[in-house]
Amino acid sequence: MHLSEILNHLGEDRDRYFDAVAPPIIQTSNFAFRTLDEFRHAISDELESHIYSRGNNPTVEILRKKLAALEGAEDALVFSSGAGAISTAVIGNVKSGDHVVCVQNPYSWTKTLLMKLLPRFGVTHTFVDGTDTAAIEAAVQPNTVLLYLESPNSLTFELQDLEACVAIAKKHGLVSCIDNSYASPIYQQPIKLGVDIVLHSGTKYLNGHSDVVFGLLASNKAMIKKLFDLEFMTLGGILGPHDAWLVLRGLRTLPLRVQRSHESALLIAQRLEAHPAVQKVNHPFLPSFPQYELAKKQMTGAGGLFSVYFNADRIEQMEAFFHSLQRFLLAVSWGGHESLVLPSAAFYKIPGLPDSPLPWNLVRFYIGLEEVEWLWEDLERGMRVF
Ligand SMILES: *Cc1c(COP(=O)(O)O)cnc(C)c1O
Repeated sequence: MHLSEILNHLGEDRDRYFDAVAPPIIQTSNFAFRTLDEFRHAISDELESHIYSRGNNPTVEILRKKLAALEGAEDALVFSSGAGAISTAVIGNVKSGDHVVCVQNPYSWTKTLLMKLLPRFGVTHTFVDGTDTAAIEAAVQPNTVLLYLESPNSLTFELQDLEACVAIAKKHGLVSCIDNSYASPIYQQPIKLGVDIVLHSGTKYLNGHSDVVFGLLASNKAMIKKLFDLEFMTLGGILGPHDAWLVLRGLRTLPLRVQRSHESALLIAQRLEAHPAVQKVNHPFLPSFPQYELAKKQMTGAGGLFSVYFNADRIEQMEAFFHSLQRFLLAVSWGGHESLVLPSAAFYKIPGLPDSPLPWNLVRFYIGLEEVEWLWEDLERGMRVF
């Protein structure tokens, strides 16, 4: 299906809604039935019917259809956060005594789920270096049921070879899932490579305007139905119709936004790589990136993120750099219109907490939709402190 078909028509059913061009916000918790038979029919398939908005809601359903198609999946569920989608996917596929193989340094709350929450229910895990396919297979135990990927991964953007990971999962009968937030469905479609479940923090590129927190889980119909009937309905972390509508609005420009970020980020990364204040740049589409060939094989772009090690002798120099920036915002998250810096130095010197294991001269950049020369001026000014 064409991207334009998905973004402009799919799921919109305009003749039911006064031929409105913008979809309606069906702001209701409840739906009424004319007959008992209609009621019974709906109860027999709550995922496809409209009974109560914890299950399904027409505005949310339009979003689900578009997102499933964007990932090349049969169906999708949306959640009130990316963490909600991740925890549902993991909890829904393990039981006491099971083991999970997970790429090392996944998103921080995914790590917490595996390290702190699941052990309480007898589920164990092994973190592996995702760049080493042999290490992934070697970590599989007789009780392993789930392979959890995140590619690109963490602040340094290491990749996993997705085709090789799918082969390992199939050979050992594991459910494979991937956090595809960093790549976006525009640049990487893991379901086409055979991955079972694709997860997103939709807060980032999919909504793209830094005003909604939401999550996506895309998979085949059987997996979606299984997760809907139990984990989705019992854990209840749903997306409301008004937020779903905001995401639908944001989604219309997804390819434009992601491409613009990709182009600007690549240009800034190239300039930084040549700058004397910079020690190293991690960007999957720079030829200096160790997995550059793999990046080109399984992704068609990298979006707006990369990271940089600066040539700094003292953490105070990094502090001076961040304080001199006037156009980049100092913040977590990413995927919106605004460019951001996330310093690992922010995770140092916090009373009561250990310093981050990451070096303090490492900075993650997110390049938004601003004019690239306007951003570069800010960086050049900032880098005078080095
Ligand atoms: C932000 C993020 C999450 C968590 O998503 P929320 O929407 O904040 O719950 C998960 N994975 C990655 C890669 C993220 O960047």
